[in-house]
Amino acid sequence: MDSGAARAGLVSLVGAGPGDPGLITVRGRQRLQDADVVIYDRLAGEAMLRQACPDAELIYVGKQPGKQALTQDGINALLVDRALKGRSVCRLKGGDPFVFGRGGEEALACVEAGVPFEIVPGVTSAIAAPAYAGIPVTHRQVAASFAVITGHEDPARTSSAVHWDRLAQAVDTLVLLMGVENLAEITAKLIQHGRSPSTPAALVQWGTTPRQRTLLTTLGELVEQSRAFGSPAVTIIGDVVSLAPRLGWFDRRPLFGRRVLVTRSREQASDLSARLINLGADVLEFPTIRVQPYSLAEVPDLAEQLRAAPSWIVFTSINAVSCFVSLLRESGGDVRSIGTAKIAAVGPVTWAAVESAGLRVNYIPSESLAAKIVDDFPEPLDGERVLIPRARVAPEDLPQSLRAKGAEVDVLPVYETVSDEPPDEIREAVRDGEVDIITFTSSSTVRNFLNILPAADVPASIAIACIGPVTAETARAAGLRVDTIATDHTVSGLVAAVLEMEDRGRRTEDEGRRTD
Ligand code: SAH
Repeated sequence: MDSGAARAGLVSLVGAGPGDPGLITVRGRQRLQDADVVIYDRLAGEAMLRQACPDAELIYVGKQPGKQALTQDGINALLVDRALKGRSVCRLKGGDPFVFGRGGEEALACVEAGVPFEIVPGVTSAIAAPAYAGIPVTHRQVAASFAVITGHEDPARTSSAVHWDRLAQAVDTLVLLMGVENLAEITAKLIQHGRSPSTPAALVQWGTTPRQRTLLTTLGELVEQSRAFGSPAVTIIGDVVSLAPRLGWFDRRPLFGRRVLVTRSREQASDLSARLINLGADVLEFPTIRVQPYSLAEVPDLAEQLRAAPSWIVFTSINAVSCFVSLLRESGGDVRSIGTAKIAAVGPVTWAAVESAGLRVNYIPSESLAAKIVDDFPEPLDGERVLIPRARVAPEDLPQSLRAKGAEVDVLPVYETVSDEPPDEIREAVRDGEVDIITFTSSSTVRNFLNILPAADVPASIAIACIGPVTAETARAAGLRVDTIATDHTVSGLVAAVLEMEDRGRRTEDEGRRTD
């Protein structure tokens, strides 16, 4: 044996699912996260790729405007080459790798090169796109069989490999992938071979994504009606389609079709984004600020502050909690280093962060506002030492009002926020009014947003939602129109405010229609 040669890496042919980033399997995601090399094509989404290891080699092998797409042989060679160099390869493919995905050819190339491989099946668009349109491919008493058929045969073939004549009546539900442009020939053949033109038919474009569009029609009308639809789309022919008006759900969620811009630091955005996505929104993240935790060297007075034995430590954000706790560890201590200090947290989210760091919160104000902390303070502050670990730049009202009550306040910067430039496409989407709602979760997100895009560039069609009155005031002062302010100043409060605003908008539209 040649002991100098690297052991070949594993090639995983992974199904990425149909588009919704939540529809990859647990194993598929694990392979994606662990791979040294990720080889992907068009239908494997951006959100998915962000899960890859930051230093993984990402190779796009799909079609690119003005460039020759890699041939199948080229892709096979690439997989084998990287594996032979000892790298683990995740070959990410839309839907399922063995359903019209050429996964079989790639697996054979591995076999021939003696490279180990595995198949991680995926959720195929053939089933998922209909499901997201409310169409079950089988249904008791309606359909006992389904077939998945290519609508796009190898153009070099002279005679059809698809037995349209037999399929026309043999299978209850026909699901066509690819070849939206061949629907005229396909539907003609099916009708010619005895499928009734009145058979319900549907076309689902961009299934499982925020761009999903569904056409419900009949086999006879399909070609005429589908002119405005392009690829990627799945066509479903069969009586099960008639269930769609009752079972449709994905595009009926309250924020479906709404594009929402989330302006928050990268670290914090995901909670808000996830909630909005679950309500159907198409979320764009506009990362304006990034949290930069300080290292111990940047917080030289930490030890002295702790020695001063404050009676209270006040946390006004989860960042303050996590950065402070990391500093304690970095200094060789842990949560015990705070001694007998009691802890105040500005709101429930900060409270949860403190508790999960293993500390008990002694006090939380009735409303999540820094100003409320002093109003409701449970103990006299006169002569007490209060420590506030927080961002380098933060409003002075809290320390000032604590001092006004006689407290000795020390402010300890434990992190700073630095601007983070969003990609150009996002700026353009705002400027062009392709965004419906912008959410702001703090005054600093407003300011950072406006540093990148002036208020004058925000079209009036975009609604603005703020987490609380302070944030709203900052937005208004900068010339933005604020459409809704959360009554509960938390992420879920903000989501509730957005939903309520949408509801109001829809009612107004309905009333408009009635009076027309
Ligand atoms: N292996 C994939 C299919 C690849 S062939 C799978 O299992 O889903 C590509 C075709 O899949 C497209 O032409 C389209 O017909 C279908 N397709 C893929 N993603 C889709 C989506 N999100 N919505 C509708 N059709 C989709």
